[in-house]
Amino acid sequence: MSKPKLFVFSAPSGSGKTTIVKDILQNFPNFKFSVSATTRKKRPDEVDGIDYFFITEDEFKKKIENGEFIEWEKFYDYYYGTFKSTVEENLKHGFNTIFEVDVKGALNIKKAYPDAVLIFIVPPSIEELKRRLEKRNTETEEDLKKRIQRAEMELSFKDKFDYIVENINLDEAKEKVKKIIEKEIS
Ligand code: 5GP
Repeated sequence: MSKPKLFVFSAPSGSGKTTIVKDILQNFPNFKFSVSATTRKKRPDEVDGIDYFFITEDEFKKKIENGEFIEWEKFYDYYYGTFKSTVEENLKHGFNTIFEVDVKGALNIKKAYPDAVLIFIVPPSIEELKRRLEKRNTETEEDLKKRIQRAEMELSFKDKFDYIVENINLDEAKEKVKKIIEKEIS
């Protein structure tokens, strides 16, 4: 068995990253998702412990103090963090790990695990991103604005990634990501 790998996905929110990641998890049995902790509110379609561990700010701060995170970030007034234990357990048991984090988180994971493969999903344009986020309708007007501003910042980091995949057509983007993963684990 080859050494398990870490695959880190970043993209501005609304770029189809979650759908692509779910597709990988369905198609590759030896992959596990790294469930992050967050202090933001759960969306109606999300499940605690599967999409995120939804915790309070106090709980989050304790975990920072206890050194439980590989990396953590605060944005949109909420905290997000990646658990060290998840990665260590997966590596120990031979599972590849998939992360879905922001660009800074991705670069910090690479610092901790230099072999991690970083994949950036690019939305067709900021205008299209805005349309997708509005259609999704899961954010307040204020959060939506912040997410679009953040998208512009995130896009400026894309060249630091190992792979850049444009999501113009979702099925094509899924195929491209599958090919990257097949290549990396072969
Ligand atoms: P959302 O609120 O839409 O689920 O996520 C907002 C942003 O936080 C996304 O860019 C997502 O990838 C990122 N994110 C989720 N979990 C983590 C994490 O553990 N660490 C970091 N740095 N970013 C995260």
